[in-house]
Amino acid sequence: MSESLSVLHRLFGYSDFRGQQQAIIDALIAGDNALVIMPTGGGKSLCYQIPSIVREGCGVVISPLIALMQDQVDALTQLGIRAGFLNSTQSSTENYDTEQQLKQGELDLLYIAPERLNQPRTRQLLQTAGIALFAIDEAHCVSQWGHDFRADYLQLSQLAVDFPSVPRIALTATADNRTQTEIAERLQLLDAQHFVAGFDRPNIHYQIHLKNQPKQQLLQFITANHKNDSGIVYCLSRKKTESIAQWLCEKGFTALPYHAGLPHERRAEHQQRFLREDNIIIVATIAFGMGIDKPDVRFVAHLDLPKSIEAYYQETGRAGRDGEPANAWMAYGLEDVIKLREMMAQNTVDESNAAAVEYKRVEYQKLEAMMGLCEIISCRRQALLHYFGEQRDQPCQNCDTCLQPVQTWDGTEAAQKAMSCVYRTEQRFGVSHLVDVLTGAATDKISQFNHQNLSVYGVGKELSKNQWRSVYRQLIAKGLLTVDFQQYNAIKLTETCRGLLRGEQTIALRKDPLVKTSIGAKTKKATHHGHRELWESLRACRTQLAKEKSVPPYVIFHDTVLVDMAERQPQTLDEFSALSGVGQSKLEQYGESFLTVIKDFIQTSQSDLPATVNETYQQLQAKQTPEDIAQQRQLAVTTIYSHIAQLIQADYISLHAVIELSDDDIKSIEDQFAEQDDFMESPKLKPVFEIFDEQYSYSILKCVYANLIKKISADAA
Ligand code: ADP
Ligand code: ZN
Repeated sequence: MSESLSVLHRLFGYSDFRGQQQAIIDALIAGDNALVIMPTGGGKSLCYQIPSIVREGCGVVISPLIALMQDQVDALTQLGIRAGFLNSTQSSTENYDTEQQLKQGELDLLYIAPERLNQPRTRQLLQTAGIALFAIDEAHCVSQWGHDFRADYLQLSQLAVDFPSVPRIALTATADNRTQTEIAERLQLLDAQHFVAGFDRPNIHYQIHLKNQPKQQLLQFITANHKNDSGIVYCLSRKKTESIAQWLCEKGFTALPYHAGLPHERRAEHQQRFLREDNIIIVATIAFGMGIDKPDVRFVAHLDLPKSIEAYYQETGRAGRDGEPANAWMAYGLEDVIKLREMMAQNTVDESNAAAVEYKRVEYQKLEAMMGLCEIISCRRQALLHYFGEQRDQPCQNCDTCLQPVQTWDGTEAAQKAMSCVYRTEQRFGVSHLVDVLTGAATDKISQFNHQNLSVYGVGKELSKNQWRSVYRQLIAKGLLTVDFQQYNAIKLTETCRGLLRGEQTIALRKDPLVKTSIGAKTKKATHHGHRELWESLRACRTQLAKEKSVPPYVIFHDTVLVDMAERQPQTLDEFSALSGVGQSKLEQYGESFLTVIKDFIQTSQSDLPATVNETYQQLQAKQTPEDIAQQRQLAVTTIYSHIAQLIQADYISLHAVIELSDDDIKSIEDQFAEQDDFMESPKLKPVFEIFDEQYSYSILKCVYANLIKKISADAA
């Protein structure tokens, strides 16, 4: 086994490398330079952490996010890796201690801020220490075109001169081709191998709903998918973050507001609670998020439209960094478009300043692209990736438009009516009035302007007011109409609408779905009845340990490890170490504590089962086979299987844990049961037994039936 793989097993507790990790690690260990573009959650950190451990000397990680360094170092320490950091938040003694450790070769990894690295004193220090590699994180900060530009990053090119034999790796999650070239040039990495993993975040489920009662919609989404999860809700205004947070609290959630107007201490406290506690919802303006490295954020919800796809992608990207399923949810409506356009319009620019005018034009274009994403009827992920220059041939099957395809209708005639109404009313009115005219309403405004005499008055009675609003929204989103803020949000025609008006073009419009239930990505959770309780106890144990060590809970174990633990219920340290994410150091530190929780659970929790069934359950958990159990207790094997069927139906164990059948086979057996009258009350086993030519035993059929009933009752609930 290679040394890097053995480090992966021993220290990190993972069984395999992901994607290009192995290749990147090999390159660095061999002394080559590397440029890595990998999406958030892709596993960038291992790419430099493992070579730092394997190579002689200390790995130096340069990162602008000094607020994260303490947590990063804590996480490594938990894994038994010797790590430290140097930044301005430290006292001078802490600083001195870290420097000494570095000099004496007692560190595997050192995190350092770029401004600190650029001090001559630090350069000298590094010259006297053995350096394994330099990792330049957030490497896009070197790009003068990006909005994260940091001048300190420019000086990092000097590393190539001062340390010619030390390999360097630059990493980022966001860099288009131009930025990649820029990084390579400015960081003197022209000879570096490029590893580009693309932008996709496959574990994030995207969904965008039409806004109608946004608060209720949000509540429904969270209640249905994220009752016990951490998440972020983004709003446009500070006031709204506070009112939504308060409202969520009234509904029984722990929600905290976050915006730039809150006193510094409160902001820090809310951020800290979000990082350190389970199940906190942060309701924030875009001020929240930079440098938040929490891996188990299970959802990001937008109650207002972001200004651009870049912003949307960055904000939703904070969900699911651990690679587990996560939801990006948004509610969007015409009022969003109007509000954002208005905000942009208020930002007046000096017309003689060409750069400012251009900036504004780009801003509008970006908003238009964002609206386009909302209105799209094909796969959202394809559209997102396309926006970032990545082609993907197949729809993703993990976004709302893939899973619940949107209907369209031929909106050509409706669009023509909507546009002529704008024209006949002299492009001076907002959507509500236009809709009133089309539907032939009798309002004061209509009589005031004599609009009842227009040819368009009442020509749109075939659609409801809501449908007309939908038509206008889509025409605005498609850029066929525009909103004028200087004139009270009057709707105007644009150049591009001509073809449609003249009948040279047709247009397909989206049928706005009635508010659907938000089915989201299914988070991997302890789903079985018995497991759920254990999962809560394991979480409580983790919270306790995290408090003792004053680290965030995920530094002890990620949720996925706890889910695994609840499902597999290891009984010995050996079994415990087989869980993915349990390395040597964590096994030694925490194994016993969690094993105790599991043992207590097994001993106390099965009281609602008949004693004999419970005994079977215990024995199954102890990995005994049904045949062994039957023999040992001198019972018939079929009796044990009928216990098993009860355990399946009561959701203690899964069908797959005891029966090896493919999903297709199970489905065809289920179909046979489902065809019987009264199968819920009194299933007939014999006809099913016979129809499959006695291929499946009665025991198997009973278990499949029990599983079917469990599923049906779970769906009904
Ligand atoms: P990035 O820095 O690219 O956003 P991280 O390095 O934080 O991503 O890794 C994301 C998550 O994936 C972390 O929880 C990490 O522990 C996990 N991970 C990374 N590599 C592996 C692997 N080879 N096997 C299992 N989990 C991994
Ligand atoms: Zn899709």
